[in-house]
Amino acid sequence: MSAASSTNRPARADAIPIRLVAPAPAVVGAGEPAVAGLVPFSSVDWPGRLSAVLFIGGCPWRCRYCHNPHLQTRHAAYRWAELYGWLESRRGLLDAVVFSGGEPLSESRLPELMAAVKSLGFQVGLHSAGIYPGRLATVLPLLDWVGLDIKARADGYDALTGRSRSYWPAAVSLEMLLASDCAFECRTTWDPEWLSETELLELARELAERGVRHYAVQARRSSPGAVPAACLSDDTLDLLREWFDGFDYR
Ligand code: SF4
Repeated sequence: MSAASSTNRPARADAIPIRLVAPAPAVVGAGEPAVAGLVPFSSVDWPGRLSAVLFIGGCPWRCRYCHNPHLQTRHAAYRWAELYGWLESRRGLLDAVVFSGGEPLSESRLPELMAAVKSLGFQVGLHSAGIYPGRLATVLPLLDWVGLDIKARADGYDALTGRSRSYWPAAVSLEMLLASDCAFECRTTWDPEWLSETELLELARELAERGVRHYAVQARRSSPGAVPAACLSDDTLDLLREWFDGFDYR
């Protein structure tokens, strides 16, 4: 469905009241897209951009270290028309809107939501684990930036995600981004219980050799803001900085 034909998006931008305060979660109807969370202002979810982050509820994987298990199940907590009105009021104050999750590509109406956001003048970002390469291909023309999770090397994927043959869609998604003009970074959540420092280096080297130019390692934390259970060595950090044009350790 195109944004112009959407029954969800208001036909005219001035047809709904503009909200200056970020919408609060509400009990919403079953027909709403699964926007289950909102961060009104972020400087870290798309490095270098000030963005609002919309969290889509729904993910078919069950990663051992998932920080957002409440976002694994499809559900909506916001009315899209209300979010759209609020985003209108953010024009000129934010650069971008990032769709995160959960797995945002699990929302079938994502192309429509992204087109609506783009029509307001925002750049569009996506966080994805690469679970749905076909859906990624559909939204790729709308995207300005992607943060793609690459969780492990091929033989370690299924044990981590709790799903069989889970490496394949992530690998196809990566190939698609490498062949596109869309800016992207690959990111790996590092938990030494699942990925040794040596295995992380092997994975990173493989990515660099395939042409990935921007890479981030996200230290696994028991909860957002908690101190990481383990830290990478200085030698590993030096190598990662050497292999990529941009490297970030979070
Ligand atoms: S892909 Fe992301 S949201 Fe889904 S289970 Fe894994 S860490 Fe959680």
